[in-house]
Amino acid sequence: MSGKGRVELVAVHKSYDARSAVSDINLVIPSGSYCCLLGPSGCGKSTTLRMLAGHEQVSDGDILMDNRNVTDFSPTQRGTAMMFQNYALFPHMSCLDNVAFGLRIAGMSKADRHARARELLTLVNMQDFAESYPDQLSGGQQQRVALARALITQPDVVLLDEPLSALDPFLRIRMRKELKAIQKKLDLTFIHVTHSQEEAFALADLAVVMDGGRIQQVGSPRALFETPSTPFVAQFIGGHALMQGSLGSRSAPGTELIIEGAPRGLLGDTQLGPFREAAAGTPVSFSVRSDHLDILPATTAPAPGRFLLPVRVTDVEFQGAFIYVECESAGSVPLLVYLPDRSQQVPEVGSEVCLGWSCAHINLFSPQHANPTTEVQP
Ligand code: ADP
Ligand code: MG
Repeated sequence: MSGKGRVELVAVHKSYDARSAVSDINLVIPSGSYCCLLGPSGCGKSTTLRMLAGHEQVSDGDILMDNRNVTDFSPTQRGTAMMFQNYALFPHMSCLDNVAFGLRIAGMSKADRHARARELLTLVNMQDFAESYPDQLSGGQQQRVALARALITQPDVVLLDEPLSALDPFLRIRMRKELKAIQKKLDLTFIHVTHSQEEAFALADLAVVMDGGRIQQVGSPRALFETPSTPFVAQFIGGHALMQGSLGSRSAPGTELIIEGAPRGLLGDTQLGPFREAAAGTPVSFSVRSDHLDILPATTAPAPGRFLLPVRVTDVEFQGAFIYVECESAGSVPLLVYLPDRSQQVPEVGSEVCLGWSCAHINLFSPQHANPTTEVQP
């Protein structure tokens, strides 16, 4: 471990003409980690990245890198390098000169900077294109050159703004593997902006979900998927059914969860979290992973430890390994089920069935989201 490249944002705020673009960002990105800023268009990802690069002034708060306060540093003083969405290669320069550019500005001799640029072209597997010009390269090749150009100044932190979005889907998957491999090999901190949940899940050690200029949740992709903390996160990352209910009476084995139309189930103290002391009648909102929902006959008998909810099947979509079954409960709540293609019978659209799931698979949202009033559209 180099131990360098730790980034911290402390109460960072940015507004443009009194309109907030980013609010109250508190975040620690450990050195050597692959961090993805994830969220819908306009949520403040690029603004956050530009403030880290020093291309944008913060309106309030501090940015620390390896415990130096860099808030007022110029971009070149920070030890960061930025890679842009459109690669921004100089069209009139060869790949070699594009990559060597940062060292030319720094005053290094031509022989030395070309030698170093060739090393970096080799790192990104573009050594055979040193004399080529950007318009002679494919999108994926241009992206590799842009990465080599960003790396030549030996940054501790590499900032990437939607680096894969201009590539076709096949190349995007290949390039993301290469980005991750280079990040691990060089042991640098990468901060990568994306609106793709799939990309963030594949790449991130630490994923930061943003909405409306604020952080919604920070964690490993697995933690986000298993315990999304807000309805927005559950909907944005997908693969969850969202429901509402209320707490019932408390007894030794657990606290009742009441869902309209379903037999009551019990939640243990760990699952209740901040609701541990909540009174009977407290409304709660929760998610269950779509792949943890079973589709059962309407006549299924209740069993301890499990919820059963009568629903009507409204749509069935074939998706390969999974079949997406959309259902609707009596309260018109849409619920998405992922049915493994190999194991179960696919229900007919219009049929009445029961959804079944284990009490252990219920993920309660934090109390301020217990009564979501607005539908979140990623
Ligand atoms: P994202 O990268 O997540 O799509 P941005 O960080 O680009 O979002 O934008 C966040 C918000 O800030 C948006 O509402 C956007 O319109 C606004 N914004 C971004 N840059 C500027 C700017 N230079 N001037 C005014 N508003 C801006
Ligand atoms: Mg952006």
